[in-house]
Amino acid sequence: MTTNLGGVFGGGTGINLNLGDAPAAEATHDETVHDVIIVGSGPAGYTAAIYTARANLKPILFASSISPGGDLMTTTEVENFPGFVEGIQGPELMTTIDAQAERFGADVRYEDVEALELDGEVKKVILADGSTYLAKTVIISTGSEYRKLGVDGEQRLSGHGVSWCATCDGFFFKEKALAVVGGGDSALEEALYLTNHASKVYLVHRRDSLRGSDIMQQRVFEHEKIEVVWDSTVKTINGGDKVTSVTLTNTKTGEESELAVEGVFVAIGSDPRTSLVQGKLDLTADGTIAVDGRTSKTSIPGVFAAGDVIDPTYRQAITAAGSGCVAALDAQHYLETL
Ligand code: NAP
Repeated sequence: MTTNLGGVFGGGTGINLNLGDAPAAEATHDETVHDVIIVGSGPAGYTAAIYTARANLKPILFASSISPGGDLMTTTEVENFPGFVEGIQGPELMTTIDAQAERFGADVRYEDVEALELDGEVKKVILADGSTYLAKTVIISTGSEYRKLGVDGEQRLSGHGVSWCATCDGFFFKEKALAVVGGGDSALEEALYLTNHASKVYLVHRRDSLRGSDIMQQRVFEHEKIEVVWDSTVKTINGGDKVTSVTLTNTKTGEESELAVEGVFVAIGSDPRTSLVQGKLDLTADGTIAVDGRTSKTSIPGVFAAGDVIDPTYRQAITAAGSGCVAALDAQHYLETL
């Protein structure tokens, strides 16, 4: 059976994903000890799948049922991934990489990993439906998750005006005034995308200069629909059953003000997604999975990590892909030593 998630994850691009076999109705206990299991399906996981599949290691990649393809599935134009002169839509990039991995025999499954048992030579991967799989190596490429503001109204109005994804939800805000919170590339990208729908976009940033790249800053400053609200943090998000305004605090004067908006897009970065390995693998002070130098080797032999989950600094699609390649080669070398 195939599943078409184009409407959900295609971000209006009309891209249809062939998502392979639907999850089994009953838990299965696969007794085969696989060479490689990859958890997570962003550029890191998929690149690890391409490399290990080409090395004939028959990888299984658990891509998740909720967000296969990772953050790029909710991005619009990707202009800085080498090889695409005119840029490429994020979902199209991921479906292309998926097809490339499957061409070499990677077994991509749109299922959710619930737990990992990583000690010993044979690792166990446990899925949400209770199914279990065994492997000699596990590559963890679970990426990162959007940060929350942690202010009053954010949780309650989530899905009712508060969003973390402009390409998913921008459409619902035709001709409305919106706030985007953050000053990094994500916030600038969200703000620019939202001008396609909104009548006005306020970019609310806590300092007096932006963190995002110069080219994105220039586009934001030049856009007639975008107004940057400097030196401001969101104190509360207000509204009954949907957002009607935000209360801002000026970080320099302490003054409070109310900004009438019907949507709030939070784009203040992300944190590594490590819940599967908490208490099992060593983590860094940044919260990423600790790896040995420039390798992908974690604190447990046979367990490798790649992509945003190990990267507090660069967090680019291309660095994640490179990191997935490193993990695949490290896993391959480890298997040769067994
Ligand atoms: P980021 O670069 O870490 O930026 C996060 C922004 O949110 C910063 O401006 C930060 O303010 C602000 N912020 C953080 N916590 C906040 C809070 N509690 N309240 C208010 N503001 C808060 O994250 P990102 O924008 O998601 O980007 C992550 C990485 O992906 C970066 O390397 C970026 O270049 C890359 N990226 C690239 C593209 C592209 O190339 N097209 C697109 C998206 C992302 P401060 O500036 O004061 O710290």
